[in-house]
Amino acid sequence: EAKARGDGGQQRYVAGMESRSAERTRRDAELRRALADEQFVLHYQPVVALPGGDLAGVEALVRWQHPERGLLAPGEFIAAAEDTGLIVPLGRWVLRAAVRQAAAWRAGLGAGAPRTVSVNASPQQLQNPEFAAEVAAALDEAGLPPTCLTLEITESTALGGGATWTTLAALRELGVRVALDDFGTGASTLSLLVDCPVDQVKLDRSFVPGPGRDAIARAVLQLTQAMGVEAVAEGVETAEQAELLTAMGYRRAQGYHFARPAPAEDLFAHRVG
Ligand code: C2E
Ligand code: MG
Ligand code: MG
Ligand code: MG
Repeated sequence: EAKARGDGGQQRYVAGMESRSAERTRRDAELRRALADEQFVLHYQPVVALPGGDLAGVEALVRWQHPERGLLAPGEFIAAAEDTGLIVPLGRWVLRAAVRQAAAWRAGLGAGAPRTVSVNASPQQLQNPEFAAEVAAALDEAGLPPTCLTLEITESTALGGGATWTTLAALRELGVRVALDDFGTGASTLSLLVDCPVDQVKLDRSFVPGPGRDAIARAVLQLTQAMGVEAVAEGVETAEQAELLTAMGYRRAQGYHFARPAPAEDLFAHRVG
């Protein structure tokens, strides 16, 4: 349509391109400033044991405390951070903050502390040849045993091959656990579980069972059991879903039915004053 209008339209089209690139530059600058000004915060969501719902671990989930727009969920900025490469320093900050928090809980709560902290990692972080060494340094600095950290990657990250697999092997060598997040939604084949060894599979919340709708949840549990991998059901919102998962044999779950993500200080407020 712009072309059909001739030169004037063409000009408007070019102007549109410029404003998109200007928008990208502005967003990049805003994310950089947010990182420098420490506007990011971590919320933590419990991962619980079934049956019973006892605390087993926590997953760290980043939020942006935006000066004008309020508290932003990752859906509003992670893709932009990945586009601009800023996910690498942001991910570094998330990892260090989560590991420090987990060490503080261990020191302050003892046996009541979450035994594991899970951190989401983006493809670019795994492709960075320094990543495994950075993780080792962060754990060492905080005094957190590597077995207390789980790194969550998606199937598409796991399909990255090459540098990604070298990093995953180095992390597992350290004792860090690796989880395949949102399992079942990606473009992977089941053979990914054989080719790319992981310690945990998180069944995507779109497969949480309901009455007469449990085939995938069952199949994934059987598959993980056969492979000696831990299964976690994500996005459990009702008692009925928790009961179905427990009856099926799931031993780990996460979701609003148990607890919503919350700031560290709210999570154990009743225990640490
Ligand atoms: P995820 O890793 O699969 O995390 C679970 C998401 O599901 C979280 O959304 C959580 O708040 C939400 N959730 C938990 N329980 C329920 C439930 O019962 N029902 C529903 N409907 N949702 C539930 P959130 O915090 O908005 O994060 C979205 C995604 O952003 C995460 O999905 C993860 O892929 C990404 N993300 C979060 N933090 C980071 C980070 O530090 N680095 C990177 N690279 N990605 C992150
Ligand atoms: Mg996750
Ligand atoms: Mg997930
Ligand atoms: Mg997700």
